[in-house]
Amino acid sequence: MNTDKIKPQEFEFVAEIKQLLDIIINSLYTHPEIFIRELVSNSSDALNKIRLISLTQHNIQSPELELRIDITVDPTTNKFSIEDTGIGMTRDEVIRQIGTIAHSGTSNFLKPFANDQKQLDINLIGRFGVGFYSVFMVTEEVTLETRSYLPDSTAVRWKSSGKEKYIVEEIERERRGTLVYFNLKPEHKEFANPEKVKEIIKRYSNFVGFPIYVNNERVNTIESIWHKKKEELEETEVIEFYKFITNDTNPPLSFFPIQVEGTVNFKALLFIPDSPPKLFWQSFFEKTIHLYSHRVFIQDDNSEILPEYLRFVRGVLDTEDLPLNISRETIQNSPVISKIRQILTSRILNHLEELLTTNPDKYDRFIETFGQILKGGISIDSSNKERIISLLKYQSTTLPKGQYTTLDDYIARMKEGQKSIYYVLANSRDLIERNPNLEYFKRNNLEVLIMTDPIDAFVVPFITEYKDKPLKSIDKADPEIKKDETYEAKKLDPVLANKLFERFKQVLGDKVLNVQESNRLIEFPITLVAPQYGLDPQSEKIFKILDKDFIKTKRILEINTSHPLICNLAEIVDKNSDEKILNDIILQLYEGTLLLDGEIENTLGFVERLNNLIQQLTDFLKYKS
Ligand code: ADP
Repeated sequence: MNTDKIKPQEFEFVAEIKQLLDIIINSLYTHPEIFIRELVSNSSDALNKIRLISLTQHNIQSPELELRIDITVDPTTNKFSIEDTGIGMTRDEVIRQIGTIAHSGTSNFLKPFANDQKQLDINLIGRFGVGFYSVFMVTEEVTLETRSYLPDSTAVRWKSSGKEKYIVEEIERERRGTLVYFNLKPEHKEFANPEKVKEIIKRYSNFVGFPIYVNNERVNTIESIWHKKKEELEETEVIEFYKFITNDTNPPLSFFPIQVEGTVNFKALLFIPDSPPKLFWQSFFEKTIHLYSHRVFIQDDNSEILPEYLRFVRGVLDTEDLPLNISRETIQNSPVISKIRQILTSRILNHLEELLTTNPDKYDRFIETFGQILKGGISIDSSNKERIISLLKYQSTTLPKGQYTTLDDYIARMKEGQKSIYYVLANSRDLIERNPNLEYFKRNNLEVLIMTDPIDAFVVPFITEYKDKPLKSIDKADPEIKKDETYEAKKLDPVLANKLFERFKQVLGDKVLNVQESNRLIEFPITLVAPQYGLDPQSEKIFKILDKDFIKTKRILEINTSHPLICNLAEIVDKNSDEKILNDIILQLYEGTLLLDGEIENTLGFVERLNNLIQQLTDFLKYKS
């Protein structure tokens, strides 16, 4: 016996752990079985680690041990235990990893729930993982005994009731690995039933890459399902596998296996999730593809393996072109990985193209969920730009609300003689209805794509044209817009019109770039458009939000010289140019247009001027009657 053993020591949990425990117990009580998944997953991680270490290090504790997980339950005593032959932990590791929250993300994740006692959604928990502490849902006290793989390691016991403190002491233990045991609370005695435990393992942990035994009976099937051919894959097992690797509780939107042989060789099984996580987009993008080499799990946070705009894809990828003991740094700089990334990108785009044509309903769901992320690719992946554009879908003015169109379908519907693809940027579809610049397009049955994602403002400047058709914002000046012939006849005399334009210029000064005749308007007296070669005003609005110093381009004021209001105004300017009210009317018209665009700054000035005009109108009406 070792006599220098350190005496049992008592430690206090860090504050977050107490919070975590409360939240777990409050939120997960409807799914207590999750603790089994969490313990098995910890064991599986520990086994993965030792498998990789043993490839390069030979001097390890108990090298002969089979890599496996053993669960033992006893329905008569309600005892539950789980043991693995994984990497184990040293005393310091136990204190560091079990006594604190290992993931910095975990405590950030918990903050909102800790503050307002919100309940965690089971789906969120599933995706995030709650870890070891979930055992406190089903027990009053847990003991963990572990011995690290390091050759001279001493074994330790950690014990806690999950309240405030835990005890750590050194113990005798021959084998490398970790054993966790506890007595189940009476209300959770069902987890001491081996059949029940087997069923839970089949549901949550069937694809763990190491044998799991329950009371010495083998439960899971270890199968690399990504090695199966497409026709051998059964949908139910594929869905189960998806749930296993993602912890998503919903089935995926679609899946597709890929097998590549050539300059690089790999097999992959990829998924597009049905719904995005409601929170935590960031962590959603960190863990994308589980990378395997020679069927051995390497890592699951490989941001290099997919371009950013495809990081909604989940799955596994197994290649024999990477050595098993490859390090994280080598993966980052590996030419094999960059080749794989190139092929994967192309295959994923293929799959989306296929989904678009064969299953438009699913595809629209995909666009609604992940379209914004996909769009990001247009500005960063020039080699696939055209393909990405062809995958985008937008609402449009000629389609019912909520229906989407591709640019190809738009082109197919273009009117004879129509040269450009028209679009409008707006915060929402409803808002565009009050855009005076839409009037012309409606009247002439010209379809306009409605872009409502915030990212559109950044992306659309990169799509200057598609299939030789220029993309044009309806909010920009456009010499192709011609006045209606019937309307042309009602036009103001050019001399009067010019006088009026001069007056507008005088009143508005440098608020506008220019004042000119409009060919597009019938209903509205005036509108504002951006210069033909400038940025879209809606894009500029967003740039201004992001950068206060951004200077917006001045816009051109277009005047509808056939509009009765404008004709009246021109006559008054001509006959009585000193009339003071004229300036107010001009300012009011101008600011009214800004108001439609949500851009008016001095609302009080606007209302005061309006009241003043109404006052004069009522004076006039009183006199008239
Ligand atoms: P997570 O698994 O999300 O990291 P846990 O609370 O479940 O969080 O576990 C914390 C850490 O404790 C793990 O990251 C791991 O380092 C260590 N650990 C837990 N279980 C085991 C085990 N069976 N073998 C070795 N280390 C373990």
